[in-house]
Amino acid sequence: MSEKKVALISGANKGIGLETGRQLGKLGYTILLGSRDALKGEVAARQLRGDGVDARVVKLDVVRQADIDAVAKLIASEFGKLDVLVNNAGAMIEKSWTKNSTSETKVADLRATFETNLFAVLALTQALLPLLKKSEAARIVNVSSILGSVSLQATKGSPTYDTKLFAYNSSKAALNVFTIHLAHELLGTKIKVNSAHPGWVHTDMGGSAAPMNVVDGAKTEVQLATLPEDGPTGGFFHLGKELAW
Ligand code: NDP
Repeated sequence: MSEKKVALISGANKGIGLETGRQLGKLGYTILLGSRDALKGEVAARQLRGDGVDARVVKLDVVRQADIDAVAKLIASEFGKLDVLVNNAGAMIEKSWTKNSTSETKVADLRATFETNLFAVLALTQALLPLLKKSEAARIVNVSSILGSVSLQATKGSPTYDTKLFAYNSSKAALNVFTIHLAHELLGTKIKVNSAHPGWVHTDMGGSAAPMNVVDGAKTEVQLATLPEDGPTGGFFHLGKELAW
C-alpha cells in the first residue's frame, strides 16, 4: 500500500480540477489527474510535474463505465487504497445565460447533464468506495454549485436567484442530495463526504466575467479534501463557510 496520500480528481485536465491537483500535490499528495482526453491530460500532468508535483494522468471519461472500472483496477493494483476523491468533472450544456427557460429545456440536455453531474458521480464513487475504505482518513468532495442550492434558488431577489439553467441547477441540487445521503450512510467511518461551491471562477465554464481566479477557485475543494478528523461531513461549503442547501 502506498505510503503517500493518493488523490483522484475527475475532469482535471484544466480549470478548477487542474489547479486542485496542483495545490493538493504541493501538500504532498500523489495526484491522479482524470482526463477523458488522454493527451490533454498528459499535457496537464507534465505541467504539474514541472511544478514539482507527483502527478500522472488517468484516462477517465466519467460517463464511461469501462473507464471507471479501469481506473479502479489501476488504483487497486498500484496504490492499494484511495485517500481523496474529488468529483470535479462537470457539464453545463445550456449555453446562454439569457435565452434559456425552464419550459424550453430539452429533455436530452437534461439527461446529458445528469449523466455527467450525477449518474457518473454515483458510478465513480461506487467503484472507488472499497479503495476509499482502505484509507486511514478518506475524503470525498462533490463539486457542486451555489446554483444547486434549492433554498437560495427559491429566494427571489437573492443574488443567486437564477432560474435560467434548469438542467445544470437541478443536477447540482441532486448532487447535493447524494452528498447528504452518502455522508449519512458513512457516519461513524473514516470517510467524510461534502459538497463544494468553488465560487464564480474564471474558467471555460465560468467565463471571462467571473471575478475569481482558479487559485482561489480551487481552495474550497482543497480544504474539503484535507479536512481534519474532527472536520464536518455531510455539509455544503464555500471557503470554509457553510451554505444553505
Ligand atoms: P472547466 O470547463 O474548466 O472544466 C470542466 C472539466 O470537466 C474539464 O476537464 C472537462 O473535460 C471535464 N469533463 C466534462 N465532462 C466530462 C466527462 N464526461 N468525463 C470527464 N471529464 C469531463 O470548468 P470548471 O473548472 O469551472 O468546473 C469544474 C467544476 O466546478 C464543475 O463541476 C463545475 O460545475 C463546478 N463549478 C464551476 C464554477 C465556475 O464558476 N467555474 C462555479 C460553480 C461550480 P474536457 O476538457 O475534456 O471538456
